Amino acid sequence: MSTSVESFADLGLSDTLLQTLTQIGYETPSPIQAQCIPVLLEGHDLIGMAQTGTGKTAAFALPLMEQIDVKVSKPQALILTPTRELAIQVAEALQSYAKNLPGFHVLPIYGGQSYTIQLKQLSRGAHVIVGTPGRVMDHLERKTLNLDNLKTLVLDEADEMLRMGFIDDVEWILERTPEQHQTALFSATMPEQIRRVAQKYLVEPREIKIKSATATVAAIRQVYWQVSGMHKLDALTRILEVEDNFDAAIIFVRTKTATVELADKLNARGYAAAALNGDLNQQMRERVIEQLKSGALDIVIATDVAARGIDVPRVSHVVNYDIPYDTEAYVHRIGRTGRAGRTGNAILFVAPREIRMLRTIERATRQPIAPLTLPSRADVTNKRVADFKQKVVEVLAAEGLDFFANIVSQIAEEQNVGAEEVAAALAMMAQEGKPLQIAGEDPAPARPATRDDRRPGVFGERERKPGFESRGERPRFDDRNGDKPRYEDRPRREDRPARPAPSGDMVRYRIDVGREHGVEVRDIVGAIANEAGIESRFIGRIGLYEESSTVELPAGMPAEAANALKRTRIRGVPINIRQDEGRPGGSFGGERKFDGERGGFKKKKFGDR
Ligand code: ADP
Ligand code: MG
Repeated sequence: MSTSVESFADLGLSDTLLQTLTQIGYETPSPIQAQCIPVLLEGHDLIGMAQTGTGKTAAFALPLMEQIDVKVSKPQALILTPTRELAIQVAEALQSYAKNLPGFHVLPIYGGQSYTIQLKQLSRGAHVIVGTPGRVMDHLERKTLNLDNLKTLVLDEADEMLRMGFIDDVEWILERTPEQHQTALFSATMPEQIRRVAQKYLVEPREIKIKSATATVAAIRQVYWQVSGMHKLDALTRILEVEDNFDAAIIFVRTKTATVELADKLNARGYAAAALNGDLNQQMRERVIEQLKSGALDIVIATDVAARGIDVPRVSHVVNYDIPYDTEAYVHRIGRTGRAGRTGNAILFVAPREIRMLRTIERATRQPIAPLTLPSRADVTNKRVADFKQKVVEVLAAEGLDFFANIVSQIAEEQNVGAEEVAAALAMMAQEGKPLQIAGEDPAPARPATRDDRRPGVFGERERKPGFESRGERPRFDDRNGDKPRYEDRPRREDRPARPAPSGDMVRYRIDVGREHGVEVRDIVGAIANEAGIESRFIGRIGLYEESSTVELPAGMPAEAANALKRTRIRGVPINIRQDEGRPGGSFGGERKFDGERGGFKKKKFGDR
């Protein structure tokens, strides 16, 4: 890893928080944490630049918590996040860090949640508010949120807030916070407007940037699997089972707790696995490594620190079960395989929100990392059958089968069946304990994103300024009359099922974003659901092509939704939506101009309420 700080204890945190970190299994600070925590504890303003998954939450949350006076039940810290998912996630993280702070209270507030509940919660007094800009504005305007006691303000994922159009809201809030407070701004990138906000509202900020050093890696086959549709553990066992030349593996996870949990689960599935983490003393660690060398263990699940310097030539695979914090950690991890002139394999699990880190790693190592197709059930079965046949062949080659051949003949004769059937019965008996056919489902190709799949921003909830807030403004249709398409004022992310083909009239549109923009189906669904206020289950088939895509939407889109879509960008690219009359993937001559009023929408169909 890149920093010289090895321990949270060196950063100036209180014993209480240090104890909590031990309890939740954080072993060492991530680079952004190591650099930000001391600066924030000293009271400086800060600009932190680091990608998703680098541990920014703890980087600002831990110092902020040191400042909270639990006896004062007033908001002392405000964290702004672009989406409600992030607000909830950050609030949960703070709650977990507050394990040993009795009476500590963090409150997430976001659009779409009932005001009555929020008001009740606010009046009960929270020490930290985590909110989306729109809703925080609402409460400031209504004077239901008072920031007089504010000590710390955090802008989390500032570039995302900019991208989602919240920057004016953020400034509005910044204008209304008391003079004396610490401000920390975190962003993966630093667009001009964010820089301008930082210059205007931060006081002599320290700037911390997690750079990614380039490094060359040895001849290691590198692949990644994008986590979707299946639990990481199931994917892991499938992959390991069909990998050629599998001998031994080191699997990297983030926490000590996770090393133990994963080791237990793999043991339960018949692997010889053990955890290797900082809680083991030197002697115990050496024992684990000895066992890996000798073949008593095949899999070791380790944290970065504990695996440092391991040199076991038979390690054929390194699995990054949790993505590393930076490229240096990645290079270090995969360096545990491909030793002593052997070929190594590195497998990386990447959640959709971590894709950026994947690209950074590719750039830093100057090597492409190829996507890995998850082995299907049939692949696993075939591999097991092939292994089984191989074993039978080996036994056939051995001598001394006469005794057994005689038994087979006897059974065949007594039961009046062929030797083949007897062999089948024996094969079935032989696979007991490890069936040749695996159970379970193959993941469906397009499943709804799971909670940690969600990329903040894409599904984030679009909020409007209180001034423009008239709930009924956007056409809203309820489905009292059954499954009628419904354009509603607030998308509901929770109830997005695996998308069945919607019924009713659908119109196909063409948009100018595709695979080459790094866009995925869920990006399109998310953006359209947010912008048009259409429930995602009413979004029809989506065709993803290289440069453009098609999407089917219910006929009769209200003008307002159409206008919103015309302005929509996905991954920063204007989508230029228009009706598509060409064949999917083909040319689409004869396209019509996109216009909510005229371009083919039967406005009446939905009626106005
Ligand atoms: P970011 O905000 O940069 O995207 P998060 O703060 O959400 O990253 O952290 C990503 C994950 O890493 C979380 O699951 C978090 O619990 C975990 N994590 C953060 N810091 C540490 C650490 N020092 N040790 C182990 N896990 C950590
Ligand atoms: Mg974050």
